[in-house]
Amino acid sequence: MNANLLSYHKVTDRLDFGVTTRTLADFRADVAFIRSLPESQRPEICFDDGYEDAFENAFPILAESELVANLFVITGVLGRRNVWDFTLFGEFKHLTKAQVRELSDAGWRVGSHSKSHLALTTLSVAALRAELRDSKKFLEDLLGKRVTTISFPFGNFDERVVEECKAAGYEEAISIKKPSQDGFVKRSKAVYRFDSLNAIRAKLRNDPLELFRLRVINACSRATILMHRLKGYKPIADAE
Ligand SMILES: [Zn+2]
Repeated sequence: MNANLLSYHKVTDRLDFGVTTRTLADFRADVAFIRSLPESQRPEICFDDGYEDAFENAFPILAESELVANLFVITGVLGRRNVWDFTLFGEFKHLTKAQVRELSDAGWRVGSHSKSHLALTTLSVAALRAELRDSKKFLEDLLGKRVTTISFPFGNFDERVVEECKAAGYEEAISIKKPSQDGFVKRSKAVYRFDSLNAIRAKLRNDPLELFRLRVINACSRATILMHRLKGYKPIADAE
């Protein structure tokens, strides 16, 4: 992965007031901007969560510009609705196994976004290992390729999580919050609903004000973690 990463979540025109949703028109403009940069300065595009719209909406737009993306899949919810997220405006479907395979065949690089989208730092060692190892094995069996990258749910990690990732065979990790000192965890900047092209430029040059803004928005993910706790959300059983 190169140094500059941008993370997307949903690309859809469906009514949704979530901050992580990007409209098709905005995404098209983002991609045209990225494509216009010299190749050495182009950021890599990442998709967290593995929603169906990565296949239906983002894939064709990127293909028109001959670009591919990195896809980070929550393996426990493939083909299912977003039970792990708490949105006020309807449910969204995750990619099916066949769609993940098709994206991989088209050159998208597929990595893990864990099995259940729990905050990894809160888990017991056994539960943490299951999230890291089961999702990796699931994707490797599905794609017939090695899977060596993980994007951390909510961007949350600590030293223990990094050590367990290395022991599980991951070679790099991504966090939307911060990088690690040793370079194992790379920082990706999330792109949100209200971001202009100027905001994206600011993300790419690590503008301090933009990084502060991202910190404020990312802090909102604590609400989802809190909801998990309140609702007693448990790790998802292995997918079929
Ligand atoms: Zn996520």
